[in-house]
Amino acid sequence: MSQLVNLLDFDLERLAAFCEQLGEKRFRATQLFRWIHQRGASEFDAMSDLAKSLRKKLKTTAFIRGLPVISQHASGDGTMKWLFDVGDGNAVETVFIPEDDRGTLCVSSQAGCAVGCRFCSTGHQGFSRNLSTGEIIAQLWFAEHFLRQHLGRDERVISNVVMMGMGEPLQNYGALVPALRSMLDDHGYGLSRRRVTVSTSGVVPMMDRLAQDCPVALAVSLHAPNDVLRDQLVPLNRKYPLAELLDACNRYLVHAPRDFVTLEYCMLDGVNDSIEHAQQLIALVRAHAGQGVWCKFNLIPFNPFPASGLSRSPLDRVAAFARILGDAGIVTTIRKTRGDDIDAACGQLAGDVKDRTRVVERMAQQRSVRLRPVAVTTEIKGA
Ligand code: SF4
Repeated sequence: MSQLVNLLDFDLERLAAFCEQLGEKRFRATQLFRWIHQRGASEFDAMSDLAKSLRKKLKTTAFIRGLPVISQHASGDGTMKWLFDVGDGNAVETVFIPEDDRGTLCVSSQAGCAVGCRFCSTGHQGFSRNLSTGEIIAQLWFAEHFLRQHLGRDERVISNVVMMGMGEPLQNYGALVPALRSMLDDHGYGLSRRRVTVSTSGVVPMMDRLAQDCPVALAVSLHAPNDVLRDQLVPLNRKYPLAELLDACNRYLVHAPRDFVTLEYCMLDGVNDSIEHAQQLIALVRAHAGQGVWCKFNLIPFNPFPASGLSRSPLDRVAAFARILGDAGIVTTIRKTRGDDIDAACGQLAGDVKDRTRVVERMAQQRSVRLRPVAVTTEIKGA
């Protein structure tokens, strides 16, 4: 083994294979995995129950390295957001959202995104590259151990992970699945499949693969009740139109840990938020009902950004829309806006970094201005 490897890139299976290559027994991989993910260790010398000979071998073959933090922001409502440097002038965002009964981490899967949804700040930046497994899991690794230390807690802080940050996770499938496995592994983060959600704009073939390989909870970015409008808002719809997408949702449910798929619907003023749109959605859902109501809606107040040319639907219209869906027997929630004061919507900070002009100066400036100790006072109750 000539090149050093980052152990964050490995799920337990691959770590066991790596340990075998070093001539070590499988249970050593379990110990090592626990040190890394459950205890947040990054130095082999700290792993006191590993034999000295193994630690020595590890030092010459591997390392454990997270992502450099460019900036850290704390909202008055307890939401925290980190901007991580992934090299070559690219950055990704991770957001922690504390609530009374859970702590949710929103994780990025790509630097930028190729799908190009019209209402999405990340989509406007274009696609730079896929994150590796290590770069995906590093966001959880850092946030979990930072928050434990910061809040003075021994037990788990992050109870839920949503793959809803920057990027289309199912267009980075090979790196995503081992990261999901590390999240679910009892020797890693031990999250239940119901509490890990992959959100997709509708990459149908990969939804079918995920159902087989690692069926976690599924959310689909719907945003429109008909193909004409969805073609404009979510360009991937031209490849996988609504009928195909909703059929794939029903197939997924055969394997899913929940008996519903969450349909995300970003409320855009005058674009997709009329009574007629709500009625079309009801008809669409009923036409794909399978064995009854199979979905719930999550209405998302749009987070405006300058290049979008779109604005947020008034709250009374969002409430009326929710009522129409609810009256039709479809469970509908309205997402609370969180962290508005720190641009917590996906892609809004990274957009600053993605402007490659004088990127080094901009990053350096962000480091000095934004990276500072923060006081988190919100109590987070783990699941
Ligand atoms: S909404 Fe998701 S899939 Fe669409 S452009 Fe943004 S990150 Fe990509």
